[in-house]
Order: sequence, then structure tokens, then C-alpha cells
Amino acid sequence: MKVVLFDIDGTLIKAGGAGARALNRAVEAMTGHKDACASVQLQGATDKANFENAFRAGAGRKPTKKELSVLTRKYVERLPAEVLASVRAKKYFKVKGVEKFVAGLCARKDVLVGLGTGNLKDGAFIKLEPSGLARYFAFGGYGCDSHHRSVVLRKAVRRAAKLSKAVIREGDVFVIGDTHRDVEAAKEAGYHSGVVLDGFGDKAAIMRSSPELLAKDFSDLKPWLIWLGLARDPRGVRRGTYICPDSPIEHAHYGRTGMDLRDIELGISKLREAKKKAAGK
Ligand SMILES: [Mg+2]
Repeated sequence: MKVVLFDIDGTLIKAGGAGARALNRAVEAMTGHKDACASVQLQGATDKANFENAFRAGAGRKPTKKELSVLTRKYVERLPAEVLASVRAKKYFKVKGVEKFVAGLCARKDVLVGLGTGNLKDGAFIKLEPSGLARYFAFGGYGCDSHHRSVVLRKAVRRAAKLSKAVIREGDVFVIGDTHRDVEAAKEAGYHSGVVLDGFGDKAAIMRSSPELLAKDFSDLKPWLIWLGLARDPRGVRRGTYICPDSPIEHAHYGRTGMDLRDIELGISKLREAKKKAAGK
């Protein structure tokens, strides 16, 4: 059984800043500070961490447990209106090709599709609502589970195992996100990592985090399916690593695509052998 975990913001959808606006409003209601999120790096972190940091930016001190729960409530209350505002302003998008991808995965009996997100569970489904994607996700790991993205992912996998009554090996879990933090969390948990470059991530940081697969979006599903081991690699590469040669930056970073150092070393040793044979040694 394979498990595929999707991040939400920048991976499934772009909510046009609805989350940041809702958090700003919540912090403003409690501290009077109007734009607390301006100084907080929200992308790729968990809501729990973001709420604490935004409160700190607004109040100049750490929130108490009670303040944090009030802030959370205010955020969740405000979020639907902000998501709706994004939809109305035509700033709410699904990431290209994602619905076909997710629907196709859901239709398979050998794949479980879940969420692996820093969003609170309530916030996650409020953000997904207008996209119609929520119905594909029966389980997930959420920002309310832990501060740490890798723990969030592990929790999602535990829920997948419980739901399917299957044993899930680390090597069968594939994490798809849009920031280096998604990649780092996946690696920390021992899972595979793939990244969409069209999300909110910083490209240089994504490159440094070295995901197994990079693609602009999901408009071409072939590299994704090859990476997941659900389609055959035309080059006959059997591993789960496949780099989609999509942008100059990928070429510059990897030099060649679909291969890693092991393949190259193997190729060189084969070449040497062939040379020796040809020379009659
Ligand atoms: Mg994201």
C-alpha cells in the first residue's frame, strides 16, 4: 500500500492570502496590531508556530495557552469569510492539474491519499472547500497535531495505517509539497519527497533541500506517476527518483535528469568493463 500526502497551500490550492488575512484579523482583535503577519514567514510552517509568532509580533511577548486558544478560535471564525473574499476577487486557484492527479490516485486500490499540512484541521478543510478537493481526503496530519512537520506527517501515516488496516513502510510514503520545509520534514520522517515549483516555496532553498522530484505543477502527470512507481520510466530507471527537466534551474542543478550519482557510477564501471573487453584484457 502506498501513501501519498499532499501539502495544501501552494500544492493543492492558492487561497490568495486568506490565511494570513484571517490571522492578521485575529491578532488585531487581541492586540491592536494590524499587520502582524508581515514580519512572520508563514509558508511551510505549522499554524501552531505561525500563530505564536504572529501573536508575538503583535503583542511583543509569547501568548499564554489561553490566548493561543482564543487566537485559534478567532482565526477559524474569520477564515471562511477571507477564503470567500479570495474566491470573489478571483485570487483563489487550484494548482494546475492537481484535481486529475488526486482523483486518479484516489481511484486506485493500492494508494491512500491524505493531507500532510501545517494547517489546523478545521482551517485545512475551510481552505479546500471552494476547490471541491476536500472529498478526496479521508485522513491527514495537521498543524494541530504538532509544531513539527515531520511529526505531522508521521501522524498522517499512522492514521492511514489505522484506516486501511495495512502495514505501511516508510519507503511507501510519498510527500508532495511546495517548500523546502515540506522536503525536510519528509526526509526527517524517512519518506519520499516531491515538490511543485509553482507554489510559494523559495526555489534556491528547494534546490538545497534536494527533493527527489521537481516539477512546475501537475500538468504533466507522467513524472509524478513514475516517481510514485505507478508508471514505467521510459529509461528503465527503477528507483523512485525522477527529476522533471522543466526549467533551466533544474538543468543547472542536476546537470542531467532522471539519474543520480549511483547510476552514473554504475554507468562508468560498465563502460570500463566494456573497454577492457574490447582491448582483449
Ligand atoms: Mg505549502
